[in-house]
Amino acid sequence: MAEHILVVEDEQEVADLLELYLENEGYQVFKFYQGTEALQCVQREVIDLALLDVMLPDMDGFQICRRIRENHYFPIVMLTARVEDVDKINGLMLGADDYITKPFNPLEVIARIKTQLRRYHHYNEVGHSVQSEKGGQELEIRGLVINQRTHKSFLYGKELELTPLEFSILWYLCEHQGEVVSSEELFEAVWKEKYLDNNNTVMAHVGRIREKMQDSYRNHKFIKTVWGVGYTIEK
Ligand code: CA
Repeated sequence: MAEHILVVEDEQEVADLLELYLENEGYQVFKFYQGTEALQCVQREVIDLALLDVMLPDMDGFQICRRIRENHYFPIVMLTARVEDVDKINGLMLGADDYITKPFNPLEVIARIKTQLRRYHHYNEVGHSVQSEKGGQELEIRGLVINQRTHKSFLYGKELELTPLEFSILWYLCEHQGEVVSSEELFEAVWKEKYLDNNNTVMAHVGRIREKMQDSYRNHKFIKTVWGVGYTIEK
């Protein structure tokens, strides 16, 4: 059965574009240009995921998000053109699962939606086993899903072909998201050997991971270099 995606976006061109891409992927789309009707739809239909624009004519996407969260647990992805909103999405306990900034690539939107849906259904199947995540076995960061048990990692739903060492580096950085990890710490944690000065091994491996993630071409790099200190994956 096709999964149901709620799209709330007042810019008709954007809404239509999203609808087109989503329908191409086999989803059933419920498209609205304002919030009130969208909320009525949520009561009426079984929705699997909602894509909510923040700026709408009748109420903002944050309000819709809160209202949905009163009764529903399906994933919510926010769309926003304003940087201030990103802080709000991150800072407040809105209950949104992800956000995408405008202008966006529709393919990235699709990939994020797939990630959210896979996660949502996965947790439902195993009876809300969020434990596996809390136990540190699977982490999800901005489109990357990395699983320590299966040693697999997916970026926007596409598997990354990492070597065991590369996997261990990426896992360690993800586990320490928000912290700056020095090359020394990373080397000793992954290689389990004493780190010697002028060791470029870590840099070379991080470089290859970035290539595989196509991180070198992105504006906001996934693994950031903190010059003179090490690496970080920002919160
Ligand atoms: Ca808008």
